[in-house]
Amino acid sequence: SIDQRVDAPEDLEPRAPIVTVMGHVDHGKTSLLDYIRKENVIAGESGGITQHIGAYGVELDGGQKIAFLDTPGHEAFTAMRARGAQVTDLAIIVVAADDDIMPQTKEAISHAQAAGVPIVFAINKIDKQGANPEKIKEGLAQMNLLVEDWGGKIQSHDISAKTGEGVKELLEKVLLEAELLELTANPNRQAYGTVVEAFLGKGRGYVSTVLVQGGTLRVGDYLLAGQNSGKVKAMQDERGNSVKEAGPSTPVSVLGLDGAPQAGDKFSVFEDEREAKAIATKRTQLQREQSVRTQRH
Ligand code: GDP
Repeated sequence: SIDQRVDAPEDLEPRAPIVTVMGHVDHGKTSLLDYIRKENVIAGESGGITQHIGAYGVELDGGQKIAFLDTPGHEAFTAMRARGAQVTDLAIIVVAADDDIMPQTKEAISHAQAAGVPIVFAINKIDKQGANPEKIKEGLAQMNLLVEDWGGKIQSHDISAKTGEGVKELLEKVLLEAELLELTANPNRQAYGTVVEAFLGKGRGYVSTVLVQGGTLRVGDYLLAGQNSGKVKAMQDERGNSVKEAGPSTPVSVLGLDGAPQAGDKFSVFEDEREAKAIATKRTQLQREQSVRTQRH
């Protein structure tokens, strides 16, 4: 395979966890992601993130980083998994404390479990009158999901995505859980990773947000992403700053591809421009043939 060259153990370095937020509709996924984005909670650097690029990184007080996929809900998670992309290291599942464990909560739990991704529960809306976090934890216990307060091993924290109460502690628990995973990648090789989202930007050409999973992506690199390819002309982080390079677990928006790859498409860097282009063309042809075949049947 083109992007999964095996790294020698001595080349591996710790990398930040990549986190997805899931949960039932209206339980507060967007609010939590917005709060974290706005406050950059622990480092206290406020209002830094200026553009929605489908993923963002936060740096905490101790210098630890977390990368968030900024597409709440299960669609992104399942779409990516359907394309064989396992991007998420850890799932935060938001459950509103003034509601019950709902169908999409259960769905989120089974998605995470099927992917072998550890869960940290965020019991949300504790600022609301009638919020009952213990009822939620009891409900989880009945599903054989014992959170720490209940003598189990699963992390959970009571939060309010509205006031921000408990969010910092929630992220600390995410980091603790991530530590157990001993996440590593080799930054000193050609980059590979996954496309998070892509669109045609006004006057900018195609803008693709990618999440680097291994290696370091640099301006000037030649990329193959799904059915598209092109030379990286410029890169920006979620603050709109130009960046020259992006290492493992870094989300970055890339200018220079000849089209918009799909969320969940893998990308990798090629030495040989012609080779990358040939593969992209071949993939487009195969796709066309396939859709013609499906139309016939
Ligand atoms: P999503 O569908 O899971 O993304 O949920 P949203 O983040 O859109 O939240 C749904 C509604 O709940 C919105 O009206 C939010 O303002 C509200 N909400 C979310 N979190 C909290 C919270 O912690 N406290 C209160 N009082 N309201 C919240």
